[in-house]
Amino acid sequence: MDDFALVLNAGSSSLKFSVYKRPQSAAWNLDARGQIDGIGTSPRFSASDGAGTRIADDRTVAAKDGRAAFDALGAWLRARYGSARLLGVGHRVVHGGAKYARPTIVTPEVMADLRTLVPLAPLHQPYNLAAIETVAERQPGVPQVACFDTSFHRGQPAVAEVVPLPRELCRDGVQRYGFHGLSYEYIATVLPEVAPEIANARVIVAHLGSGASLCAMKNRKSVDSTFGFTALDGLCMGTRPGAIDPGVILHLVQGLGLSAKEVESVLYKKSGLLGISGISNDMRDLLGSAEPGARLAVDYFVYQAAKAIGALAAVLGGIDGLVFTAGIGENSTEIRRRICEASAWLGIELDGEANAQKGPRISRPGSRVSAWVVPTNEELMIARHTGALLGLIEAQA
Ligand code: ADP
Repeated sequence: MDDFALVLNAGSSSLKFSVYKRPQSAAWNLDARGQIDGIGTSPRFSASDGAGTRIADDRTVAAKDGRAAFDALGAWLRARYGSARLLGVGHRVVHGGAKYARPTIVTPEVMADLRTLVPLAPLHQPYNLAAIETVAERQPGVPQVACFDTSFHRGQPAVAEVVPLPRELCRDGVQRYGFHGLSYEYIATVLPEVAPEIANARVIVAHLGSGASLCAMKNRKSVDSTFGFTALDGLCMGTRPGAIDPGVILHLVQGLGLSAKEVESVLYKKSGLLGISGISNDMRDLLGSAEPGARLAVDYFVYQAAKAIGALAAVLGGIDGLVFTAGIGENSTEIRRRICEASAWLGIELDGEANAQKGPRISRPGSRVSAWVVPTNEELMIARHTGALLGLIEAQA
C-alpha cells in the first residue's frame, strides 16, 4: 500500500475523515472516506472507498470522546493500510481569525493563536484544535496542516468586514469573517476548467447545504459573503435562522427570559427550516411535504437566497455567473429552478432540461448571466493544501 495523507474534520460529536493515497502524478487519489458519529453517546463508524462503495458498515465503536474516536480510527487505518506511512494530517479548522489568510503548518505558536479564537467559534474551534492535539500526542512527528474556513475571505474590502458597533467593543476580533471558505476556494480552483467564460468575471457561488451561504467573487477572489462574525448570519439554514433583527434576541432575553445558553440553542439548533416548518431541517422532507409550514419554510429559503443574490449582485456591480453547490445546490432541481426564476431579472434564463440533468451549465446558451452546478470538495482542497505545504508532491492537481 502507498503512503497516505489523512484529512480530518472534527466536530462536537463526529469525526469525519478522508484518506488520500500519495499521488503517482500530480493528483491526489481518494482511497477512503468515512466518519464516526455519535461520539460520547452511541458512536458508530462507517466508511466507503474512493469509488463510494461501502467498506465499513455503520458499526458500533468505543468512542466516549474525541481522543477515543481518533484511536478507533487509528485502529481501522492500521488494519486497512498496514505498514504504509502516514505522511501528514490536514485539518478543517473553522476559524483562522484575521491573521491566517492561508493554510498553515501547525506549530505550538500557531496553536496558541488558534486557541485565542475559541470564544469566536465555541461550538467548533475547540473540537478542531482537540483533534490536532490528539494527533500530535498519538502520532508525534507527523506534520499537521490547519486549513481555515475563513481564509478565503481575507483580503475583502474593509467595508465588507466591518461590524458597526462601538469600536472599543470590536477591538477583540468582532468583524465579519465569512465561512465555507474551503468550499468556495475549491469552486474557484475548478471554475477555469468547468466554466471558463465566467472564471475571471463576477460570480456568485451559492453553497446550499445544512449550512447555507453565498460568496461574491471577482476574478475568483472573495469580495463579500453572507456569513458574518459567525455562521449564523445571512441565508436561512437547516436549523439556523440566517439574518434576523438583533432586537429579536433582546426580546428573547429581556421579554421571554431566555438564558444565553438557551438563546444559543435556539439560534444554532432550533431555527431556520426546522423552526419555520416545525417538521424537519432536511430540505428533502420539506419538498416532499404538503404541510403549510413546510411550504412556508421552502418559500422563505428561496426568498432569502434570491434577496441576498440581489444584494451581492449590487456589491459586484452586476453578475456574469451563478454557481450552485453543496447538498441542496447540487441535488435539488426544484430549489435551483426557483432561485433562478426569482433571479431572472438579473438576466438568468434557466434551461429546464440541463437543470434536471445537473448541468454543469443549467442556463440557456443565450442567457446573459450563466448558471451552473459544480460539486464541491472541501476535503480535496485540504488534501491539496496539506500536500503543497508539506512538500509531499511537486505539482498540485
Ligand atoms: P452538510 O455537509 O452541511 O451537512 P450537505 O451539503 O450535505 O450539508 O447538505 C445537506 C442538505 O442537502 C440537507 O438539507 C438535504 O436535505 C439536502 N439535500 C440532499 N439531497 C437533496 C435532494 N435531492 N433534494 C433536496 N435537498 C437535498
